[in-house]
Amino acid sequence: MLTRTIYLSLDPYQWGRRRRGVEIPGEVCHGRTVSQVLQSRIKGFEAGDYVFNTNGWQTYGLTGEGISDFGYMLPRKIDPNMAPISSALGILGMLGLTAYAGIVVQCAPQPGETVVISAASGGVGQVAGQLAKLRGCRVVGIAGREEKCAYVRDTLGLDACISHLDSDFSERLRAACPDGVDVYFENVGGRVFEAVLNLFNINARITLCGLASQYGAMNEDIMQVWNETGADIFSRRNVIVHPLFVGNFVVSHQDQFLAEMAEWLRGGHMHYLEDISDGLESAPQAFREMLAGGTFGKTLVQVSAD
Ligand code: NDP
Repeated sequence: MLTRTIYLSLDPYQWGRRRRGVEIPGEVCHGRTVSQVLQSRIKGFEAGDYVFNTNGWQTYGLTGEGISDFGYMLPRKIDPNMAPISSALGILGMLGLTAYAGIVVQCAPQPGETVVISAASGGVGQVAGQLAKLRGCRVVGIAGREEKCAYVRDTLGLDACISHLDSDFSERLRAACPDGVDVYFENVGGRVFEAVLNLFNINARITLCGLASQYGAMNEDIMQVWNETGADIFSRRNVIVHPLFVGNFVVSHQDQFLAEMAEWLRGGHMHYLEDISDGLESAPQAFREMLAGGTFGKTLVQVSAD
């Protein structure tokens, strides 16, 4: 199937692929995409269809057996009448499923519990926070600049949002969580994680989704550092850590997730912000900005017209 790339998704994990040498210089950079079919010999896909696929950083791509990598994210048709097609890379795609797996499946917070979400205005974080609110929790977001914190509070409806850029960040976080923390959705690690660490209640649960603040560190095992930092408190307070790999939830939960999320979107229960840069040539700069917190919402590149 030959497709024309419309949207390219920029995701922090792509940096990990580069660091680990999975990306080979001279080959097309990996990237998930929303595309339109131009020609197809795959049953069920026809010229004109919109599809979720993995064209990578290129304007046209081939999809088919032995061509697309990431087998767990198979190409699928997108219904443009259900939601904007770009949402297949965000709230109705891998990012939404990641948030759903962490909050709904792994940690299952109960009404009244306190849930903390880091990178709360980002692609995964904004969905995770709203899911926790739908479950009746007190939800505290952590984000960077004030514009992001205001969005998390005023548009997403979280109870509080603290900026990790503030010098008294730890104190402010503690004040926003007067009953401690029952569930933590970890997206960034580092200083943010250290501030949350001392607030964990007995039997708290953590979804370890990602450690975006650490992806630039070349020579250390970031998971080991994270585990060692928490080990003492985890064991004393009986904290359960759930590592999250979204691929493990595609077969078991994708259908349920798509049905429930589509309903929440139709009912106006979910907000979702995208940061779309224009043209494939803008991708490297947008990628750098995303990792540094410069983009706001789910980061995408518009490669060609809808
Ligand atoms: P985001 O849109 O959340 O972008 C990353 C954000 O991380 C930045 O916008 C920034 O937000 C924050 N950040 C970066 N550096 C720092 C820092 N030093 N301190 C605090 N915050 C920082 O990305 P995604 O939603 O795509 O991904 C979020 C996380 O989920 C990532 O860690 C990613 O790897 C992970 N992930 C994991 C999956 C899995 O299967 N486990 C699947 C998909 C994603 P701000 O400006 O607010 O600080």
